[in-house]
Amino acid sequence: MKQNKRTSLKDLQILDGHWGIFRNTELVPEVRWDPFRIVIDDGDVKIGHHSYISLLRADRPDEYFITDNQSLFYHLEEQDDSFCRLITGKLPSIIVARDLVLVNDPFCTEPAFEMLSDTTVFTSINLYTSMTRILLSEQNSNHIHKRTSQGIPLLHIFSKHYHTMEEVPTEEMVLYLKNIILSINESRKVLSAKYDTTTVFHFYNIGPNAGSSIPHLHSQTLLYSDKGYGWKNYSFFRSFEKNQHLNGRNSYCIGCEYIKGSNNDFLGQKLHISERTIWEDDNWIVFTAYAPERDGHIRLLPKRHVSSLWELNSSEITSLAKALKHANQVLSQFIHRFGGKLHILSDRNILFRQKHFGYSSPIHMLIDIIPVQQVGGAEILDDHRLSHILPEETAKLMKSKIHRDFPHSLDL
Ligand SMILES: [Zn+2]
Ligand SMILES: [Zn+2]
Repeated sequence: MKQNKRTSLKDLQILDGHWGIFRNTELVPEVRWDPFRIVIDDGDVKIGHHSYISLLRADRPDEYFITDNQSLFYHLEEQDDSFCRLITGKLPSIIVARDLVLVNDPFCTEPAFEMLSDTTVFTSINLYTSMTRILLSEQNSNHIHKRTSQGIPLLHIFSKHYHTMEEVPTEEMVLYLKNIILSINESRKVLSAKYDTTTVFHFYNIGPNAGSSIPHLHSQTLLYSDKGYGWKNYSFFRSFEKNQHLNGRNSYCIGCEYIKGSNNDFLGQKLHISERTIWEDDNWIVFTAYAPERDGHIRLLPKRHVSSLWELNSSEITSLAKALKHANQVLSQFIHRFGGKLHILSDRNILFRQKHFGYSSPIHMLIDIIPVQQVGGAEILDDHRLSHILPEETAKLMKSKIHRDFPHSLDL
């Protein structure tokens, strides 16, 4: 392997905030919790809406451009995006893990020009993060500036340039998931020396309308020390916690009920699980969401009751790689055929709903794939959706090999 040229902080002028490294406490991203909708639970756990205000984010490069018809986005020069340049050693990076090998401490402050083309997948620290990873003036103290929370922003990147998940070979996807788990576990280890709890967000932004600024397939993990949840995440945790004692039972879990193929949920709603199922194997089931957040919303559920990605065994990880590829493929085909009628774009977010570190929770982990669709005020006003098509019908159209027309009765 080529010897990498290591560059220390002294040699490279790191701008304040790059890779989450700050010298000036006045520039750290500010966390603001909306006092109009916050409660404090269990003494010090905040629940409610919060914003990370990071002025540096405005400097992120936007590597998509709009074509003449204003609807399609392509990268100006294929394979010359920031990640391709980083992989070929043209841009500095801080690498946490290459394939299945840990490289640097997640608190590393020394970027290097790395040659990564002989690596299949890797995890690096996000250059333009909204988090404070290192505050140099407080590096040796156990607390970080009170306006901010400390976090580790991970970027998980394929060395080959892919736009979509369905292009990735299954073996690469398996390695990718294992690299993510390795780097999350390592980051948690270093954060746990300072904090009891770590919030973990793992997600993909695919396409510019889904929040991506670089057209090279990647995902992100944000691990941060703030003790609390947003309402949306909390609704999942609270639901699993409250419902486990439903009807005098000790271990009710809606996820496990799905795996058993129950006809009804605890509200008496008919679930139509088999009609909504679009793929399954021994470890995972993939179905259209019962109460979709956007039309085309797909949900993935592991068959074993596990609460996080890092609890999956090797066979479950291999199945997950296949499930993710298949789900994205059928969603893309569905959007290609019916996206125009439903006003859905092929851009999408993939969101992992799972336990955070340091909190006990009976949550049955799940993954949501949600395409971008225009929504109105009712959807922003509350956690609420006016949907255009029955999820059972969506599943039927996704599974159909024959090119069917959009259902006549639902023609928009
Ligand atoms: Zn690229
Ligand atoms: Zn379960």
